[in-house]
Amino acid sequence: MTFEDLGLSPDLLAAVTEAGYTEPTPIQAQAIPHLLMGRDILGIAQTGTGKTAGFTLPMIEILAAGRARARMPRSLILEPTRELAAQVAENFAVYGKNHKLSMALLIGGVSFVEQNEKLDRGVDVLIATPGRLIDQFERGRILLADIKILVVDEADRMLDMGFIPDVEKIMKLLPPLRQTAMFSATMPGEVKRLTDSYMMNPRKVEVAPAASAAETVIQRLINVRGGFTEKRKALRDLIASENVRNAIVFCNRKRDVKVVDQSLRRHGFNAQALHGDLPQAVRMATLEKFRAGEISILVASDVAARGLDIDDMSHVFNFDVPMHADDYIHRIGRTGRAGREGHAFTLATSADDKYVQQIERLIGGKIGAGNVATQSEPAEPAEPVSAVEVEEKAEVAADAKPSGEKKAPRRRSSSRRKSSDKSETKTETEAPVAVVGEVKKPAVEKTRPRSGQRQPKQKEPSELGMGDHVPAFLQR
Ligand code: AMP
Repeated sequence: MTFEDLGLSPDLLAAVTEAGYTEPTPIQAQAIPHLLMGRDILGIAQTGTGKTAGFTLPMIEILAAGRARARMPRSLILEPTRELAAQVAENFAVYGKNHKLSMALLIGGVSFVEQNEKLDRGVDVLIATPGRLIDQFERGRILLADIKILVVDEADRMLDMGFIPDVEKIMKLLPPLRQTAMFSATMPGEVKRLTDSYMMNPRKVEVAPAASAAETVIQRLINVRGGFTEKRKALRDLIASENVRNAIVFCNRKRDVKVVDQSLRRHGFNAQALHGDLPQAVRMATLEKFRAGEISILVASDVAARGLDIDDMSHVFNFDVPMHADDYIHRIGRTGRAGREGHAFTLATSADDKYVQQIERLIGGKIGAGNVATQSEPAEPAEPVSAVEVEEKAEVAADAKPSGEKKAPRRRSSSRRKSSDKSETKTETEAPVAVVGEVKKPAVEKTRPRSGQRQPKQKEPSELGMGDHVPAFLQR
């Protein structure tokens, strides 16, 4: 099966070829022809299956004919998180590069002014999170009467996040004569009810869940007593004791990606962070360095790591147990490829029991318990702190809600609060790194350490204070 067989136009085929795709994924092969025919579809597929192109490609094809009117978007894509919304927007830009379609993004963190200007001019595609969309609709900034295509992506995740009432509210606001595509990795009752009530005889397209972890991946669960700080120590011990050639360390939260990355680097590991806040150019450069072996440990969130096609990774470390069992499969699937042996370690605290059980249900067995040999570490020198790090440190400390400590009052949005880890009781005790960005090179590097492993620490100057230097005012 080729993309030509799916009935896509030459402009779209050219964009797909430029994206580097040679053949459609199973979900694309099934979904695209039905969507091009104007049918409703229910796609049972998770991230990583290529489902985004499965709906964006036919949307571009359909929307190529016709024009957008002011404040009346012609199609709507609902995403549960702003990261996913931004990712879909990126996909749209790639696949739609040969079309003159306009797009607006209604998500937190993106200026309303700019998006409203776009909406005022008229957009072909509106990509939004449900709350933001309702907010803008209620302010009278958007009219939904011209929506011809609706995509509800990751419906089961919408349910987990409590967004289904908002999604239903939006569906009621849309014209009944429209095309609807809904994607969900699983079909909980609430999602099924939505499809029964708001879709017209949807065609079900399904790809087998990637529930079987590669047999070449040796999986281990490391039970950590404590919280964030203890997990970081366990991670360092693991990396130091394993023969790590290259690895991804997965964190559930973007904020933790930054902190774990800084912590690893401060302890001399050759690490770099990859998260959605980084400019695309920085992300690309980091990936290139990782591919070239200049960086051996990538610290990443699921969203940032999605689509990373790096073969032959020796290790995957789950700094956090993923909250969605299918994410576990995706994460560990980054090692043990092409028949090679891979290692996947998952750090878990007692608060993660529920998620571990979900994963074990999905993979149909227990993850073997692993040990981590505690490594002795030299005492950390106090290091200067940059403004960014002070803020991050405060953020982590504020989120950790220490019992006895006073906390500077912070105003946080409800969505942020939702994502904070309630089980976390530890404060951030480590001094953060002095330099953000480049890895500090050890001053003396007699033997080249294995790439994933700790590099020798920079020697502290034996002399403190001003040394031989006598300032002029003292000589006076
Ligand atoms: P998704 O499931 O939509 O998040 O896509 C997962 C990854 O697969 C993304 O990085 C896409 O760029 C990539 N992808 C999508 N379609 C194809 C294809 N036909 N061939 C190769 N890669 C693809």
